[in-house]
Amino acid sequence: MHRASNMAAPSERRSPLFPAPGSAPSEQQKPKKPCRACTDFKSWIRSQRKQTAALAPGDEELERPSECPLDREELGRSTWSFLHTMAAYYPDEPSTAEQREMTTFINLFSKFYPCDECAEDLRERLVTAQPDTSSRSNFSRWMCLLHNDVNRKLGKAEFDCSRIDERWRDGWKDGSCD
Ligand code: FAD
Repeated sequence: MHRASNMAAPSERRSPLFPAPGSAPSEQQKPKKPCRACTDFKSWIRSQRKQTAALAPGDEELERPSECPLDREELGRSTWSFLHTMAAYYPDEPSTAEQREMTTFINLFSKFYPCDECAEDLRERLVTAQPDTSSRSNFSRWMCLLHNDVNRKLGKAEFDCSRIDERWRDGWKDGSCD
């Protein structure tokens, strides 16, 4: 039985549908590159070199070239910037339709976020913690708590959610962003 196209798993979505006839070799035949957005830069370099145990001499000093596809960390930083900024400018008193649409957006986002492991983790969190889209301040706080959940999982410091507007909308109270 054929699976509907909108139900394809993320890895299947990346497969080329129509390889050019006679072109060599097909995408399926080529050795698979790891998904950059699913890994950090050093791990990606390591897997490119087919070494599992250690980085090659000099890799510790590797500078990531600019204008390259994003790795998991870069994608994460850029995405959090977008998500927190979107929450910071969400309406103070959203209409029922806006609340529903933002909830839908976050749930769809969790299906298509290109780091598979991160997206799966997010979908699991959404099972018990759907977005609070009832107001700008509640949605910003919900996003902050979500980010802190991920921070905890990764062993990173938690952010003080009482300062969310300073960080993402108004700038720090000491004026350093003015
Ligand atoms: P980031 O965590 O990207 O934070 C960027 C900036 O946001 C910080 O400098 C700080 O100023 C601010 N900030 C920090 N915490 C908060 C907060 N709670 N509220 C508001 N602002 C804050 N990576 C994984 O390895 N595994 C995962 O499962 C994973 N899941 C992710 C899920 C999502 C939805 C997203 C967007 C990213 C995920 N990432 C995951 C990436 C990860 O969260 C980081 O983005 C990445 O590790 C880079 O971290 P960073 O230390 O540069 O700062």
